[in-house]
Amino acid sequence: MKVSIVGAGLAGSEAALQLASSGVEVDLYEMRPGTMTAAHTTGVPAELVCSNSFRSNLLHNAPGLLKEELRRCGSFLMKAADCCRVPAGGALAVDREEFSKTVQDMLRSEKLITLIEKEVTEIPPGRVMIAAGPLASTSLADALAKITGSGSLYFYDAIAPVIDFESVNMDRAYFQNRYETETDTDTDSQADYLNCPFTEEEYFNFVRELKEGERVSTRDFEKELHFQGCMPVEAIADSGDMSLAFGPMKPVGLVDPRTGVRSFAVVQLRMENRAGTAWNLVGFQTKLTYPEQKRVFRMIPGLEKAEFIRLGSMHRNTFINGPLLLDERMQLKTDNRIMFAGQITGIEGYIESIASGYLAGVLMAGIGTFPAPDTALGAVLRYPTETVTDNYQPSNINYGLFPPMKKKPRGGRRARREAQAERALKSLSEWLSALSAEK
Ligand SMILES: Cc1cc2nc3c(=O)[nH]c(=O)nc-3n(C[C@H](O)[C@H](O)[C@H](O)COP(=O)(O)OP(=O)(O)OC[C@H]3O[C@@H](n4cnc5c(N)ncnc54)[C@H](O)[C@@H]3O)c2cc1C
Repeated sequence: MKVSIVGAGLAGSEAALQLASSGVEVDLYEMRPGTMTAAHTTGVPAELVCSNSFRSNLLHNAPGLLKEELRRCGSFLMKAADCCRVPAGGALAVDREEFSKTVQDMLRSEKLITLIEKEVTEIPPGRVMIAAGPLASTSLADALAKITGSGSLYFYDAIAPVIDFESVNMDRAYFQNRYETETDTDTDSQADYLNCPFTEEEYFNFVRELKEGERVSTRDFEKELHFQGCMPVEAIADSGDMSLAFGPMKPVGLVDPRTGVRSFAVVQLRMENRAGTAWNLVGFQTKLTYPEQKRVFRMIPGLEKAEFIRLGSMHRNTFINGPLLLDERMQLKTDNRIMFAGQITGIEGYIESIASGYLAGVLMAGIGTFPAPDTALGAVLRYPTETVTDNYQPSNINYGLFPPMKKKPRGGRRARREAQAERALKSLSEWLSALSAEK
């Protein structure tokens, strides 16, 4: 069997590697660098277009459980991510260049995969997987519109700025992980987060300018809808002057080691590359214009002279109405030679897209069934095929997608989630045993 995959992003690359590992030949089409998207900046596969974080690694957080399941399943991209990690406390963050390069090497060294640099403008013949992502090219979107009818929807995401470490004023900023005091931290090792502390007056001045800052206008044909967890910082400020102080700028668990003072608010920066030369503003996705970003973000104490390696920006997100269009194997109901994978199905997030690519690869190879809904894989990947709603909107992995426990475990929220994680991993191991028996 031979299949064509459109898009060597997170889902397409994982699916190609899974298919090849099952002995299936793959033509993997990628339009970059010849044709770029509005957010990608390189021609390498599996580029991370925004944050370099794959979110929490802890099992009582749903993204942590999904990652653990992917490790147990033998996901190639999860392995690459673990190999390229940079310090990020309880989260998994990666050196983005190293990550994409590792995936590229994996694809190139697989004899059954042919990487073809070409924009796909019509649906290819034969078995096809569409993994063209939220920034699928316009020609492909047109071709998809023909086969899906009015199933395509559009909305916006926002990217956070990245700062050159050399330009940070360390007389104001300090290293510290939340809830870790100096005595908790090994004195020889540096904490993962860089903190810029605000006085009350500095905070309210900053919020005022953020709200007044000029924004990139929304184009007529695009509806403005932000995906949860990637809300532009100025939109959070619009919702109330204290919203940021209780959100991405919350000061809890942080005390300036030089003064012993807990500040009124804090902006945190996280390492963007292993060398530690680039740091991103955590939770600061934005749609302010470029000059306004420089003006307003230089009001952050410690960033008065910040040099921006990358400024924030806004992008379209394309996804299909999965529940209407897809069957239980993520194939088009009206033409089951075409399968969809990744964010274009209406899931959202890096790790979710890798998970979707993994399962699409396994299913297209003709092995296995959908994992049970009490696994993280089953919970998030059933969402695009089984959700019943009049207004289908993307979702990332969260414990709300899991079926409730038959017997409610004792203890609080954390204990409940740990029990759900335990149940998920047990269920996954049964699924994996059945899968290996089929192989
Ligand atoms: C601006 C932006 C910021 C985001 N930030 C985050 C974040 O911080 N954290 C997070 O977890 N998720 C984020 N996401 C969501 C999502 O997780 C990523 O977009 C993720 O990369 C999706 O994986 P994918 O494989 O579905 O698509 P992609 O990784 O985008 O891969 C699709 C590939 O298809 C190629 N392609 C498109 N059209 C064609 C064509 N016609 N022919 C050939 N190739 C084509 C593209 O060039 C691309 O390489 C963001 C999304 C966007 C748009």
